[in-house]
Amino acid sequence: MKIKKNNFIFLSFIFAVLLFSSCRSKKCYETSFQAMDTVMTVKVWSTNRNIALRALEESKKKITDLEKLLSVNIPKSTVYLINHQENYPFSIEISDDFADLIRKSIHMSEISDGNFNICLYPVTSLWGFTTDNPHVPEKSLIDEVLPACNRDNISLIEPGDRWGNLRGIDYEGNCDLIVMNGSKLDFGGIAKGYAGDEVLKILKDFKIENAVIDLGGNIQTLGRRYDETAWKIGIKDPEEPEKIICSVEVISKAVITSAGYERYFTDEYGKKYPHIFDSKTGYPAESDILSATIISKDGYYGDALSTAFYVMGSEKAYKLWQKQKDFDFIIITNDKEIFISENLEKMVKVSEASDYYFRTLP
Ligand code: ADP
Ligand code: MG
Repeated sequence: MKIKKNNFIFLSFIFAVLLFSSCRSKKCYETSFQAMDTVMTVKVWSTNRNIALRALEESKKKITDLEKLLSVNIPKSTVYLINHQENYPFSIEISDDFADLIRKSIHMSEISDGNFNICLYPVTSLWGFTTDNPHVPEKSLIDEVLPACNRDNISLIEPGDRWGNLRGIDYEGNCDLIVMNGSKLDFGGIAKGYAGDEVLKILKDFKIENAVIDLGGNIQTLGRRYDETAWKIGIKDPEEPEKIICSVEVISKAVITSAGYERYFTDEYGKKYPHIFDSKTGYPAESDILSATIISKDGYYGDALSTAFYVMGSEKAYKLWQKQKDFDFIIITNDKEIFISENLEKMVKVSEASDYYFRTLP
């Protein structure tokens, strides 16, 4: 078959364009901003500048929208309205986004035996963690607010569960949240992980294949690095957070750490009070865990579980892992041990200067 000269030139041109576009290397685009009381960074790699910039813009908007919904300090946020009600019990109609987060939070509370608890605002606010003036409150005040922190004080009524359905009325629309016994909400232990999941959904919609987001130390990755290798995420030394104790290799995973060093205050005797609380006592958790890192598919899951691990300590944490087995962990204990889940052995590398050693599994 003969190809005419003109056709030949045309086909060569198409081929060259295809070759050029497939070789065009991806560039990194990045946005960094303050939200949810911390610094958020979203980094994407793309061959298309416009798409990358739009994806970053939408990601930022999603995070600021979620902050407007969940902040305990922004007066018009839904959580602020809930936390400033005076008559209990009450019911409030909530958006689909918010219902989704509450469903997930209740689930995390159930699987962690209440160690993760979004009803802790009466305690966290008493300690002043959401203000500029954290302090140790009187024990009597803590005991007074503890019943309000019971995680069973909130429940969700799905549209299909309403009484009207029994009478044949087809209710559509939003869920209702029922709040009892002075309960008040604090999503500080899950909001960033949840926001990360929402950002990754947006990036995928824009067909971004390589991205890493750092929402105040919560790292979530999409795909591989731009050079097709795995992401290497450093885990900080909880006693000297400027040092990296080990690193873990991941692809499309969240790597989320809860640790005492992240937010704490010190009293006049030099005692440190971290911002993660034990719902049973109303005091900052004191387990053998200095830092708990969860490596999971979803950010909300790792965020809530890392908080729960920090509260429950390494023994219960290991049992929880044995039951769930749908995540990996790196626990650093106050005995200078690095305790990791079985599947992770090949993925973790300890820094040479580190004086920590691996705990063998029970
Ligand atoms: P960070 O926000 O530093 O990443 P965490 O994810 O562990 O750390 O979240 C700690 C925040 O979660 C606290 O500031 C508080 O708002 C809230 N919180 C404290 N204790 C608990 C708990 N036991 N369960 C759920 N949330 C908690
Ligand atoms: Mg958390």
